[in-house]
Amino acid sequence: MKALYFENRLSKVLALKVAQHFRLSSMLGPLSALRYADVPEPRIPNPRWLKVRNLACGLCGTDLHFMFMDMDPRCFPAAMPGIRKKFLGHELVGEVVEVGVDAGDFAVGDRVAMRIDWPSCAQLEIEPPCAACAAGNYMLCQNLGTKELPLEDVGGGFSPYMVMHRAQPYKVPAGMDLDCALLLEPMACAAHAVLKSKPEPGERVLVIGSGTLGLLIMAALRTLAPEAEVACMARYPFQARAAQGLGAEAIEEAPGIYRRMADVTGARYAKGYLGNEILLGGFNRIYDTVGNDESIKHSLRWVKGGGSVVLAGINFKPGRIDYSPVWCQEVSLTGINCHGTEADGRTSFDVAAELLQAGCVRPGDFITHRFPLRKYKQAVKTFLSKRTSEAIKIAIDVADESPAR
Ligand SMILES: [Zn+2]
Ligand SMILES: [Zn+2]
Repeated sequence: MKALYFENRLSKVLALKVAQHFRLSSMLGPLSALRYADVPEPRIPNPRWLKVRNLACGLCGTDLHFMFMDMDPRCFPAAMPGIRKKFLGHELVGEVVEVGVDAGDFAVGDRVAMRIDWPSCAQLEIEPPCAACAAGNYMLCQNLGTKELPLEDVGGGFSPYMVMHRAQPYKVPAGMDLDCALLLEPMACAAHAVLKSKPEPGERVLVIGSGTLGLLIMAALRTLAPEAEVACMARYPFQARAAQGLGAEAIEEAPGIYRRMADVTGARYAKGYLGNEILLGGFNRIYDTVGNDESIKHSLRWVKGGGSVVLAGINFKPGRIDYSPVWCQEVSLTGINCHGTEADGRTSFDVAAELLQAGCVRPGDFITHRFPLRKYKQAVKTFLSKRTSEAIKIAIDVADESPAR
């Protein structure tokens, strides 16, 4: 079967560093760490695994980071052990086609999403699991790389078939349609971000970035914190319109933005030398879904003293920021790495399923583009040209790539 994966080899990292000076086409070409190639159709390695025929999978910004190896070797995740070959595609929906005799509560025909992607104590069958996994926070697993998976070619959301350990899948609730189920994983990230720092009634909240994650956070806020006042920063007019549709006030990034933020929040604006602008007062909470130097700088300066910033945007580059607002204004800075288990014991996926079933978004408004897997380059180009493509979520249809049987 054909699958999309990347190889984590130093020669590839270096070759791509060179390629990045050229055009996008060369970054998707032979120098890239990305492979679209034949791999063996995976088989269940032991009775605790199951096999899934994928139907569709969302393309996520994180996939692009891996496709382009857009990762500085000095950032923390670059040193995490244990990943030589990574199959891409985690926002998947598939159908169980085979179950091991001890594969738990799954049966042939069940529709599933993927809850646990990166190897953790569960798939590695490490007993007892580390404290993070025991608490259901598999993304924080301390045992990465201490053991190998029982097979390397497991497949991913961007391949027609994959195998999963029984701990990995999430059963799509009965009656949830395919498009809605495609939003389960990104919605789980949004729910996790909001529950990490849940607004109190009447608080002013800012979401920086209005891509899929930003918009889903706005949708989650609407249900989980209906009495919060939500504003957002959107890069493109179509994103601002989508945000307004979710009840958020869209603020344009334009000259004078610090004064504008002071007006919106009733904060005091102050300016020092060398263009050093700050607010005294500001938003109670900020969810930064961009996660670069500039957005983090703004987040720490637009949040009220004693307020909270959640870093939800993923970036693999060590940056340069002024972190003095953290101590000077006693800002709580926290982050999320996808999803896990919430304070009330529910999984982020359970919360996401509930939000989606309550109709907090119309999946048809979110899934703006669809491509078959073989046209993945076109999908990537569409993702990278949002200004003209107006893409929110791009779905890759993998079902039609499966050989007839
Ligand atoms: Zn994702
Ligand atoms: Zn663990």
